[in-house]
Amino acid sequence: MNLIYKSTRNDNETATASQAILKGLANNSGLFVPTEIPKLTVPVKKLAQMSYQEVAYEVMKLFLTDFTEEELKDCINHAYDDKFDTPEIVPIVKVGDAYHLQLFHGSTIAFKDMALSILPYLLVTAAKKNDVKNEIVILTATSGDTGKAALAGFADVPGTKIIVFYPKDGVSPIQEKQMVTQKGENTYVIGIKGNFDDAQTGVKKMFSDAVLAEEMDAAGYQFSSANSINIGRLVPQIVYYVYSYAKLAAEQVLADGDPMNVVVPTGNFGNILAAYYAKQMGIPIRKLICASNENKVLFDFFQTGIYDKNRDFILTSSPSMDILISSNLERLIHKIAGSNADKCAELMQDLASEGKYTITDEMKANLADFVGVYTTEAETAEEIKKTYEETGYVMDTHTAVAAHGYDQYVADTADHTPAVIASTASPYKFTRSVMNAIDPAYDSQTDFELVDELSKISGTTVPNAIEEIRTAPVLHHTVCAKEEMLAEVKKILGI
Ligand SMILES: *Cc1c(COP(=O)(O)O)cnc(C)c1O
Repeated sequence: MNLIYKSTRNDNETATASQAILKGLANNSGLFVPTEIPKLTVPVKKLAQMSYQEVAYEVMKLFLTDFTEEELKDCINHAYDDKFDTPEIVPIVKVGDAYHLQLFHGSTIAFKDMALSILPYLLVTAAKKNDVKNEIVILTATSGDTGKAALAGFADVPGTKIIVFYPKDGVSPIQEKQMVTQKGENTYVIGIKGNFDDAQTGVKKMFSDAVLAEEMDAAGYQFSSANSINIGRLVPQIVYYVYSYAKLAAEQVLADGDPMNVVVPTGNFGNILAAYYAKQMGIPIRKLICASNENKVLFDFFQTGIYDKNRDFILTSSPSMDILISSNLERLIHKIAGSNADKCAELMQDLASEGKYTITDEMKANLADFVGVYTTEAETAEEIKKTYEETGYVMDTHTAVAAHGYDQYVADTADHTPAVIASTASPYKFTRSVMNAIDPAYDSQTDFELVDELSKISGTTVPNAIEEIRTAPVLHHTVCAKEEMLAEVKKILGI
């Protein structure tokens, strides 16, 4: 059976999976959603015997129905290979009463790798299937993490080039070093004299530049996007929720069929939406616990049914969750509105014009699977320190937001259903915040001194991703004015 995708804002705009991946975003800013969520066809007992790659195939084949078995397995095997520092791909570790699903063993030690390791292969395959002859040029503006994960994913993937723009003085020294040392003949990294918004605006302008598109086409190129609302990033994220349930059942943490809870540190709402899809596929998830930092727009939404981004933007120690517009929430809104695209479009119009919208009581009643929690900066640091002192385990700031939110949930509800916490980054990625939480005296040390100290106190080895950049040569030197972005792209493409 062929699964069809349609726009959250227009029932008449449909696409196959490969078309949706190629296109990224539907017209009028709609997002592609599957017209139904397929049910798992393999029993949990069998999934429990499978490798991560095998589970990935069983899940993804149900969503990407126009990919052949060979194509999909090829994508999966190229993505989840020894780029990951453990053959388990996503180890599950018990910390206190909860199970941490470690999504940070890929090449950039954050959970974005779970999707960005496979997206390049899905894109190239989708291009082939749709007779796209052009080379795919990925154009990205980044505030730090996504850029590196996309570079690592696309490096040396045949048929692609990747160009990343970042604000020259707007990313951390480690983030910059990670990007400018990127290897790969097809990778281009450019610092701009401006902030992230300037980079983003410049990229968006190029995406909608019809003249540029023609010139590129004539030279055999076309743009595509590795943006987090691409369905090709969402589907691979469903896999690890299915995988973790099967593993917990295999280890008899729970009996097959018994529920688990899932706790997700949330920003753009992609990761937790994947857990929701896993539930619709048949994984017995009781509660989806959505953890926010002090930018708690989602917590307020689950409390009140009002989504309101009119508030101060707070810079926190969990920067990947510092978001006031959670783009992927639109897919949930569409679903709880009974897949009513007109209603969804109306609410998104309210968001665009007033910065807020209110869902109906009927829609709110469809949110019973979700619980919102939030964690302050002080609580985040306390959670890291307390857990380290009690167990010796060191977690990163994003995971700490979720772990503290989970403790709060258990205190409020006494719901002791086995819980999986999505652990989205290695503590080595946010070393300074993590070490300061354990002891503020660490703040006087340099970044790499802190890395070594973290290794010592946690008894873990420094990940390759960090070790590499200590000595790696800088390969990308280009810095340009924000007005020169187009010229730089043309230079790279020789047009
Ligand atoms: C992107 C990110 C998140 C947020 O995930 P969403 O899918 O955007 O909700 C959380 N933690 C880390 C470390 C991330 O990089």
